[in-house]
Amino acid sequence: MTNYYAEPFKIKMVEPIKILTREERVRKIEEAHYNVFGLNSDDVYIDLLTDSGTGAMSDKQWSGMMVGDESYSGSRSFRHLMESAKDIFDYAFFQPVHQGRAAEKVVMPIFLEEGKVAISNMHFDTTRAHVELAGARAVDCVIREALDTVSYHPFKGNMDTKRMINLIEEYGPEKIGMIIITVTNNSAGGQPVSMANIRETSEIAKSFDIPVCIDAARYAENAYFIKKREAGYEDKSIKDIAREMFSYADFFTMSAKKDAIINMGGLIGVKDNEALFETIKARTIPLEGFISYGGLAGRDIEAMAIGLQEGTDFDYLQYRIGQMEYLAGKLHDAGIAFQSPVGGHALFIDAKKMLPHIPYHQFPAQTLALELYIEAGIRSCDIGSYMMGNHPDSGEQIESEFEFTRLAVPRRVYTQSHLDVIVEALKSIRERADQLKGYKIIWEPAILRHFTAKLKPLD
Ligand SMILES: *Cc1c(COP(=O)(O)O)cnc(C)c1O
Repeated sequence: MTNYYAEPFKIKMVEPIKILTREERVRKIEEAHYNVFGLNSDDVYIDLLTDSGTGAMSDKQWSGMMVGDESYSGSRSFRHLMESAKDIFDYAFFQPVHQGRAAEKVVMPIFLEEGKVAISNMHFDTTRAHVELAGARAVDCVIREALDTVSYHPFKGNMDTKRMINLIEEYGPEKIGMIIITVTNNSAGGQPVSMANIRETSEIAKSFDIPVCIDAARYAENAYFIKKREAGYEDKSIKDIAREMFSYADFFTMSAKKDAIINMGGLIGVKDNEALFETIKARTIPLEGFISYGGLAGRDIEAMAIGLQEGTDFDYLQYRIGQMEYLAGKLHDAGIAFQSPVGGHALFIDAKKMLPHIPYHQFPAQTLALELYIEAGIRSCDIGSYMMGNHPDSGEQIESEFEFTRLAVPRRVYTQSHLDVIVEALKSIRERADQLKGYKIIWEPAILRHFTAKLKPLD
């Protein structure tokens, strides 16, 4: 037996990638003003910027693209999506939309307004944005263990249910518009949420009459972790676990660009509340388009119907999470610190530990991301002080609790040899880590600066 799970597929179509010389990479990153978002993808060898919409579709999905039904109404592909989604989630109603944030844009204002609060284990950026656009407040309530990068906890994405009860009582239950369970917990590093925690969160919410929403982008990876780590689930199928997870919520919003393995798409599900579904349909038509296409082409809907099924395949998930564990194992052996245990879609390297001599205001995680590009053409990104930006009141640089360099791994795209390149690059950087210097920002916009800021190496 091997200590890894080889790819449960063979490759029928390839997309050539090339690696520039070191001199070229040094020039390209300078031209990009030392901002990874400024690089052309053609100049990147291994792209770990995000796992969103970057997965490889299967031959079945591509053939689905050909037979996708583009009818405005009554489309066969739409019916196919309804059957596929019903099989996995066991809900009565579904509405396709063009991506996850569109689902949020449609749903959030139904429950949230000025004076209301949404509580989540952790709001993803766009989820927080749509809670706030609706006029409400977004409060994160993840367990303390999520903030400890070293010690093991099988479900670091869990809701802190004690604190959640305190928050509900503090604000008053009538003020809480919804409770959002994000699976896996993206912002905590793709950390899973246990079934027991989902169940308990849901029971508490019900006792206060608060609706429960699942932010379902990586629900299948979460189900796999439950099967592997939670007692009583080892013999259950991924779909059975998924159905139980969703049975504890009232509705879900989902980006289909992750576990449904398509390049664009989203989905809303409603368990049984027909009146709510009518409101969702009425909002979807002006915002996203008619209900049977929801901002997507019929062929995208067909690919989503197929991708939802493929994303729940056990062999696929074992390989997918296995890739993350392989990468984590190699880095662990090399003594490189990261948020542990590794999450389902991304590995967060602890740049503070690798570059202890670079202070937060010289951006250690951004420094490591830039060095990974210069070293091997690998694109990652900073999740640390560089991304946090300046304090809105004082204008001072915020000191982030963590300095992470995030390696997000696209689905079915890179092989184990690519993972080895990443490991070797990090080992080689670590050898000369003490010689690396930080960066300073020479231009930045007022908000979301990390996408467009210009930097300069310090000498
Ligand atoms: C990606 C993501 C979203 C937003 O989805 P988009 O398809 O990017 O609009 C929402 N929540 C979570 C947890 C996500 O990972």
